[in-house]
Amino acid sequence: MRLILLGPPGAGKGTQAQHLVAKYGLVQLSTGDMLRAAVKAGTPIGRQVEEIMARGALCPDEVVVAIVEQRIEQPDARKGFILDGFPRTVGQAEALDRMLAKHGIALDAVIELRVDEAALIRRIENRVAEMKARGEPLRADDSAEVLHRRLVAYREQTAPLIAYYRQHGTLRSVDGMAKIDEVAAAIETAVSAAGTTSEPAVVAKPVTAKPAPPRRIGRSGLGKKSHISGKHHKPKIKVKPKARAAKKPSPKKRKKPKR
Ligand code: ADP
Repeated sequence: MRLILLGPPGAGKGTQAQHLVAKYGLVQLSTGDMLRAAVKAGTPIGRQVEEIMARGALCPDEVVVAIVEQRIEQPDARKGFILDGFPRTVGQAEALDRMLAKHGIALDAVIELRVDEAALIRRIENRVAEMKARGEPLRADDSAEVLHRRLVAYREQTAPLIAYYRQHGTLRSVDGMAKIDEVAAAIETAVSAAGTTSEPAVVAKPVTAKPAPPRRIGRSGLGKKSHISGKHHKPKIKVKPKARAAKKPSPKKRKKPKR
C-alpha cells in the first residue's frame, strides 16, 4: 500500500503516519525527518537546506525529489510506504508521478487531514510549551513567526495539491480536528475504500466502456484514442470508426471480384 498524508504543519500527519506504520507495517517516509537528519549530519544537502528550513520556507524541489527517490528504492520501502510531508508542491507531485511510473507502482490514496488554522497554532504552541517544560531541545523552526511562514507556504504551494489529487481520483479527506483515535479510524475507512475505488476510474474506463465496435475498427480507434484522455471524447471516437466502417468495406468488395 502506498499512501500520502497531506495537511498543514501541525495537522497530525506524523502521529497518523505512526499509527499506519503499526497497523499496516508500512514504512514512514518523512521528508522533514530526512532533511533534519541531513542537517544534523552536516552533509552537502544538509548545509544547503539548513537556513531554508530554519526560516520555514520550502527546500528546492530537486533536492527533496532526489532524497525521496533514493529512499523509495530501498528494500524496506518495496512493501509499501506512507509519504509524510511530500509532495509539497505541484512540481514535486508531478515528479512523484514520474518516479512511481518508472518503478511500475501506483498510489493507493492521498489522505487529506482537514484542520482549522487557529487550532493548529494553538496545537503547535502547546507542543512547544510541553517540550520546553520537559527540557527537550526545540526544533529550529518551532516558533510562532516561523510557523506562520510555514502556514503561508502550505496555503500557497501545497494546498493546490488537494485539487491535483482530487482530479486524479485518489483524494480522501478526513476531519483532522477529531480525536487522534477517531482520525485514525477515519483514515482506515478511507484507506479500505480506496482499495476498491482507486486508480482504475480514469484510466481504465475509456477502454472497457467501448465494447461495441468490431475489432478492426476498435484497433484504429484505440490508437487515436490513447492520446485523448477524458470522458468527453468518447462520442467522437464512436463516430469516426463508424464513418470509416461505412467507407472501407465498399472498395474491398469491388476489388475482390476483379481478382
Ligand atoms: P511538519 O511535519 O512540522 O509539518 P516537516 O517536518 O514535514 O514539518 O518539515 C519541516 C521543514 O522541512 C519544512 O518547513 C521545509 O523547510 C522542509 N521540508 C520538508 N519536506 C519538504 C518538501 N517536501 N519540500 C520542501 N521542503 C520540505
